[in-house]
Amino acid sequence: MRIVFIGPPGAGKGTQAERLIEKYKLAHLSTGDMLRAARDAGTEIGKKAEAFMSRGELVPDDVIMAIIAERLAEPDCRGGYLLDGFPRTIAQAEALDAMLAKKTTPLDAVVELRVAEEELFNRLAGRGRADDNPDVIRQRLVAYRRQTEPLLDYYAEKGLLEVVDGLGTVEEVFDRVTVVLDPLAE
Ligand code: AMP
Repeated sequence: MRIVFIGPPGAGKGTQAERLIEKYKLAHLSTGDMLRAARDAGTEIGKKAEAFMSRGELVPDDVIMAIIAERLAEPDCRGGYLLDGFPRTIAQAEALDAMLAKKTTPLDAVVELRVAEEELFNRLAGRGRADDNPDVIRQRLVAYRRQTEPLLDYYAEKGLLEVVDGLGTVEEVFDRVTVVLDPLAE
């Protein structure tokens, strides 16, 4: 099963992703985690990405596509994967489509975790990550609205979009996602 997980920062994607990969035995591909690891390791990609991340802006598409192409070629991805925080722009989604078409491994579903904006701000402000200060949070929400939300229409037109209400306990939200994904699991 190949899944894209979309939602604004603070929607609880990371927490749900951890549980979903366990249940469906998927590889967890979080570009945010990959970029933070590259930054902490001080690699060239990490240094380049840090400037954007610390401002709450998206890292350029070419950087993202390079790391994702490399990751998708690894053997653990053959058994299915959950893309978490990627794609985040139409250009990334188109590049992903082209890459998957070449491998003849199309996506099975795109799950949007939907949470109202006021709720997100409160959740993010309580989290304590380096890019969780109020100005950066605001910028990340702006980036989501402007650059990532258009993907919802893009995937809806392809008939792949499943919208899940992200408000509630971790357990409640998880149950809603599994109702959508269970029928797709082999
Ligand atoms: P996340 O942990 O997914 O919220 O990502 C943290 C930060 O990494 C984002 O605010 C972006 O600066 C950067 N980032 C992660 N994934 C992407 C992506 N697919 N495209 C561009 N930037 C990304």
